[in-house]
Amino acid sequence: MKSDCIFCKIASGGTATKLVLETQTVAAFHDINPAAPVHILIVPKKHIRSLNDVTEEDSAILSDLLFAAKQVAEKTGINESGYQVFFNVEQGGGQLVFHLHMHVMGGWSKNG
Ligand code: 5GP
Ligand code: ZN
Repeated sequence: MKSDCIFCKIASGGTATKLVLETQTVAAFHDINPAAPVHILIVPKKHIRSLNDVTEEDSAILSDLLFAAKQVAEKTGINESGYQVFFNVEQGGGQLVFHLHMHVMGGWSKNG
């Protein structure tokens, strides 16, 4: 846990932010400024700055994040209509919070 990191605090349950899903290794919660009708962030409990800092030792965390995305999509009812799953990596990739996180976005109407 990095004491000045907001996503470390949220993932450890140390804020008012409600967790949508929690496992031993990852936590999911609603984005505070949603860019889609459903916009969830999934983070590892371990502090990792960005995808660039993932090591071979962390490979299980990556699969845990993806599996959590599938579960969160089911839980929020966007699995059948479809959704996007992505990482922003470092400043040039649009990353603003430097604790690894995966965006899960969906819930748009089928008619656009
Ligand atoms: P990035 O651009 O780093 O990939 O995305 C960071 C995301 O985190 C943004 O969509 C932003 O709205 C969200 N965010 C930033 N601070 C907080 C926070 O304190 N709580 C929650 N729930 N989301 C946050
Ligand atoms: Zn952190």
